[in-house]
Amino acid sequence: MPILSDIINAAKEVIEVARTTAQGMSVTLSHIPAKKDTVQYPDEPVQIYRRFRGEHFLDVNEDGKEKCVSCFLCAAACPADAIYIEGAEDARSYAERIGQDHRYARVYQIDYGRCILCGFCVDACPTDAINHGHNFEWAVYTPGEMVKDKDYLLANKWREPGVEPNEKQKALAAKQKLGKFNMILK
Ligand code: SF4
Ligand code: SF4
Repeated sequence: MPILSDIINAAKEVIEVARTTAQGMSVTLSHIPAKKDTVQYPDEPVQIYRRFRGEHFLDVNEDGKEKCVSCFLCAAACPADAIYIEGAEDARSYAERIGQDHRYARVYQIDYGRCILCGFCVDACPTDAINHGHNFEWAVYTPGEMVKDKDYLLANKWREPGVEPNEKQKALAAKQKLGKFNMILK
């Protein structure tokens, strides 16, 4: 009775396909009434974990003096060779100079075409000058635009949510041309 057994096997297969399809669809349909996670960014703020390692910012101290002392430790620690620094000496008094130390970074660049956001530079920095911010908007038209200079990285601090300059930092923050990141840190 090979024909009868073929019919039975085909029927079993149809039942199995129907069962697994119904099982899959039940999972799909169960999510339809659930709360949607889609965010209409950038019109709506996006939630970012505080531990997220985004584009860096270079920090300044309470007096608005650049914290970087151009020690090159971050560049040495970088496995992607993404950091370029030119150090310089500023012999002026503390009140006049731009850095908190006589030695400062005349040029400081990070190439985000190379950076892998490993955080080694942040860990290596003895003055907490280089930090990860939360920016993830990196879309540009040319590779050259992925190289961010010192002014851009300094200004990035003031774009972070909840970060406001004190009286001594206001002049520096006023140079910021780009708006705050539309994000909520959680
Ligand atoms: S995060 Fe890592 S790859 Fe990026 S600049 Fe720092 S050390 Fe280099
Ligand atoms: S950012 Fe930090 S580690 Fe890098 S050169 Fe400046 S002080 Fe040194």
